[in-house]
Amino acid sequence: MTNGLVAVAPCSGFHHAGYAQVAGFCTFNGLMVAALALHSSNEAKRVGIIDFDEHYGNGTDNIIERLKIDWICHHSEGKEHRSPNDAESFLVRIDSIVEAMTDCDVILYQAGADPHIDDPLGGWLTTDQLFERDKRVFETARRLGVPIAWNLAGGYQTPLRKVLDIHDNTMRTCAASYMRPPR
Ligand SMILES: [Zn+2]
Repeated sequence: MTNGLVAVAPCSGFHHAGYAQVAGFCTFNGLMVAALALHSSNEAKRVGIIDFDEHYGNGTDNIIERLKIDWICHHSEGKEHRSPNDAESFLVRIDSIVEAMTDCDVILYQAGADPHIDDPLGGWLTTDQLFERDKRVFETARRLGVPIAWNLAGGYQTPLRKVLDIHDNTMRTCAASYMRPPR
């Protein structure tokens, strides 16, 4: 069933996989497979990709460059190194990151759990800040009327329950944002 507003794929986006190489646990770039499928079937003329994983979506950029794609708006926060000092300014910037994709037919949102401050490969955002991150993405996309399809990504804390708690929070804030009547 589709509602034209939001969807979730409980898998990774595999953003390190490039056009002709695998990398960082990623074989195929799921974000780009989805974008290309939507575009080739004319379901989306423009696609936004918001990648809030801890790490740079280098494979995504590699494929965009290799195929000379000009219909994808890609934002990978992991392109720059961030510290806890950047957290509050990042949260404030999220509205404008999403608003830059107003002309997209759909936004693919990669809600990585590895920016968490306790993550061994992270991290700079607290649990509350990750919740706020997701809330701002969903609320802004809904306000703009741009459908959003989100997925999970990296998270390396142990026990795994800590990672799952972050993913659960993304689902909670998604539900809170979309399972209420529009204002
Ligand atoms: Zn990562």
